[in-house]
Amino acid sequence: MIQAQVKLRINPKQEAILISWLIMLKCVWNWAVRKIELDAKDGRFHKKQQFQNLLADHGKRMGVPSHTLQGILLMAWEPWDRCFKKISKRPRLKGVRNKLNSIPFPDPIKYPINQRIKIPGLGIFRFHKQEIPEGKIKCGRIVKRASGWYLCLFIEADAKAVPAKANGKIGIDPGYKNTLTLSNGETISMPKEFQKRQERLAQSQKGHRKNLSARLHERIKNTRKDNNHKLSRRLVAENSCIVFSKDNISGIAKSYGKSVAEAGHHQLRQMLSYKCTASGRKYVEVDSKFSTMTCSHCLARTGPTGKAGLSVRQWECTECRTSHDRDQNAAINTLIAGLGTSLEKVA
Ligand SMILES: [Zn+2]
Repeated sequence: MIQAQVKLRINPKQEAILISWLIMLKCVWNWAVRKIELDAKDGRFHKKQQFQNLLADHGKRMGVPSHTLQGILLMAWEPWDRCFKKISKRPRLKGVRNKLNSIPFPDPIKYPINQRIKIPGLGIFRFHKQEIPEGKIKCGRIVKRASGWYLCLFIEADAKAVPAKANGKIGIDPGYKNTLTLSNGETISMPKEFQKRQERLAQSQKGHRKNLSARLHERIKNTRKDNNHKLSRRLVAENSCIVFSKDNISGIAKSYGKSVAEAGHHQLRQMLSYKCTASGRKYVEVDSKFSTMTCSHCLARTGPTGKAGLSVRQWECTECRTSHDRDQNAAINTLIAGLGTSLEKVA
């Protein structure tokens, strides 16, 4: 299953319909979220199948396809289900601050011809020219963003393999903020432009300029995604084995913003994972425990630790006198761990 996204070319009439749908669906969402909550208090829990059919005969009256209503009910049911299983937080009600911005279309959609696509219940929509992967379109979703309306398509096809260029092995140590260190000593950071945009975003937020900050937010998201695609593609092409050190975030790291950085690396990890699978490469995630304090040469734990060690960039192993760059050492350790020699065993 792959995802594709096209930008819709919408006329004022279509936009009015979509906006009215979003308002109606927001009410449906809020009703569903509250219903599950109140019923759960009384000890009644809904089954997935039964809950998504609760509004079965309301579609016609509201002028919304009944399957879209089902989709919204499901969108409210699933986070509650995760919440009851203690995996995630409870879903929030939608309103001015937390807007509903997507309309689900759970039915198969016909493959578009000439930049025109037929969406169930809405008719023909035109979209900006873009290549869509061949395959059967299983379902779709219209999303409202700061820069316009988009149609996300879920297509039944396999991701294309990335052509191999070399067969290296690499360990990746994610740092704070947006930097990565590879075990061959290379550091990768986001382009300067990215930093500048984030500064502008902060500025616009201080000035309470909501529209501007929403647009900047979207642009930052797009840049990050683009960068992650390019980087993961390059890494998969050059390496046959990729090891990523994944954090189990604990106290100090949390207070130093590592959890924020982790969230940013999540996308890259997913991309590496599916690109590796599609291209027949090996992708491993290892625990980052001890990766900074262990000397990658003699495996003695002589490196910087804890809060005090965070500022140490360069250090020398007291056992074997090798001098290390903190992050590269961690990346090499990650690679060692991924290849099967566990750091814990050595100690
Ligand atoms: Zn050493």
